[in-house]
Amino acid sequence: MSLLSVRHLSKRFAGVAAVCDVSFEVQAGELLALIGPNGAGKSTCFNMLNGQLKPDSGQVILDGVDVVGKSPRQVWSHGVGRTFQIAATFGSMTVMENVQLALHSHRSSVFHAWQAMSHSYRQEALSLLEQVGMQDHADRPCSVLAYGDVKRVELAIALSNKPKLLLMDEPTAGMGPKERNELIALTKRLVIEQRIGALFTEHSMDVVFGYADRMIVLARGKLIAQGDPQVVRADAQVQEAYFGTGKTFTSEDLDGATA
Ligand code: ADP
Ligand code: MG
Repeated sequence: MSLLSVRHLSKRFAGVAAVCDVSFEVQAGELLALIGPNGAGKSTCFNMLNGQLKPDSGQVILDGVDVVGKSPRQVWSHGVGRTFQIAATFGSMTVMENVQLALHSHRSSVFHAWQAMSHSYRQEALSLLEQVGMQDHADRPCSVLAYGDVKRVELAIALSNKPKLLLMDEPTAGMGPKERNELIALTKRLVIEQRIGALFTEHSMDVVFGYADRMIVLARGKLIAQGDPQVVRADAQVQEAYFGTGKTFTSEDLDGATA
């Protein structure tokens, strides 16, 4: 049985078929790239997987349970982790405090309420920071971190509920090529070590071809190709979606490609 099975998922917005009859699977231990031009329906798809958006039709089966109609918190408690942008909101808190806060908000109970925040979950937070290589930065405020390091902390927070499935919508947005590669390499390592299934959107084809086990391609809401990155790369429909007929598909950055 697949970790995630997406079946015939559809969502319309006022006449726009944002996602149209999309089906795919994610296995445990697999890093799957979701690509497509701007407006292709990638974020809409993510938001239907994480509970933020209710599909018009279709199923999202996670570990055998259909999570369609469940709230983001219920989906999360089924084992779906996602990266949030912490930079803007919690920049004045330290790296450690950010991860402790995440652990606390997940587990808070009457029993834990009496514990002072500064003592709660410190070991567990440290262990999460070690997993992303940020233990040495634990007591620095997030606001002074390099951009790529903030993304590592966000990843630690996403891992704090021991997810089976990790959802990352544009995790490397705003990053340079080196930082992009490092973040996805780290994600790939965690996916393998912890047998997590991960789905991510990414504009850099170098990153997709370098790290994804499989990829799926959306264009105008429809899934037009899926499979091995090297095979998908040669697909005529994929070439058409990005570049129009007759042009060559290169591994250059696709930032700014439009539908
Ligand atoms: P992507 O993430 O691939 O760039 P989106 O999923 O954000 O694409 O958008 C897919 C289509 O759905 C676009 O045409 C977009 O304008 C439309 N869309 C997305 N969200 C909404 C919304 N909340 N209301 C109306 N239209 C939306
Ligand atoms: Mg998007």
